Amino acid sequence: MSSGTAYGIGPVALTGGSGIDRAAHHRLDEAWLAAAWSHPTTRVFVVSGGQALIDDTPDGRTALVMTPAFEAPPTEQHRYFLGTDPDGVRYFALQKDSLPGRMDDSARPAGLREAGLLLGDRDAALLTHAVALENWQRTHRFCSRCGERTAIAAAGHIRRCPACGAEHYPRTDAAVIMAVTDADDRLLLGRQLHWPEGRFSTLAGFVEPGETIEQTVRREVFEEAGVEVGEVEYVASQPWPFPASLMLGFLARATSTEVRVDGEELHEARWFSREELRTAFGTGEVLPPSGISIAARLIELWYGEPLPTARPW
Ligand SMILES: [Zn+2]
Repeated sequence: MSSGTAYGIGPVALTGGSGIDRAAHHRLDEAWLAAAWSHPTTRVFVVSGGQALIDDTPDGRTALVMTPAFEAPPTEQHRYFLGTDPDGVRYFALQKDSLPGRMDDSARPAGLREAGLLLGDRDAALLTHAVALENWQRTHRFCSRCGERTAIAAAGHIRRCPACGAEHYPRTDAAVIMAVTDADDRLLLGRQLHWPEGRFSTLAGFVEPGETIEQTVRREVFEEAGVEVGEVEYVASQPWPFPASLMLGFLARATSTEVRVDGEELHEARWFSREELRTAFGTGEVLPPSGISIAARLIELWYGEPLPTARPW
């Protein structure tokens, strides 16, 4: 797109090069998994309701609280094998109904939206994987083919039906999120109905059956804002396990400019020039985006520089 800048997309949260090899070929090998679980270098963390314990490290970072398996809460099931790092350390998440109590002063529970901003790439990737599996496991306990209760298999990556033999795999819902610009290189931002005053962001929506992702971008922008879109360029993706999405980020070029919001998803949508957005950030009329969403990175890509320091939405 003609943003007139060499500014590239900034680091997208939850997508870092974690160095973790998922080693999926081990998931069906119960003997290997049992040996890996009890190996002294293996590290385990508990995931519960989308949260895990995080802690500050002596060198000023934030890390997942991980223990060897023998210190982990007992469980027969719900061990998710997440992979192996370059040093051969194996990582498991243990799904429990609650997080273990900790006596440490600084260890605290955190969900991915918070932890994703604090953790290093490896831990953020491990937690993203674990939370996505937990979300799917918790809501897919029964066979969608015959209704029988299903059982966990493949170290958390399959649910099997003992009655009809069906194998069910984790679900990922594709969604698009797009920075739409017009011929004057203005950016279209929208406000959803229930968002606080001043919060604007890029438009987004789910891919429907039978659609290409480019068609979804055009359909969603027209449905939500009444704006027609021509050229569509894929930029980057982001796992978004809230509960099961994969966000596909785009730059999109509008071929019309009249805005007509649907009033259902969007309350308001506006075109901003860079100068207008810079001024709106300054006056507080528009709040700089915060959080882990790829939305901020897409807006920056057009804006041409990092956005002002975000405040919590
Ligand atoms: Zn079944």
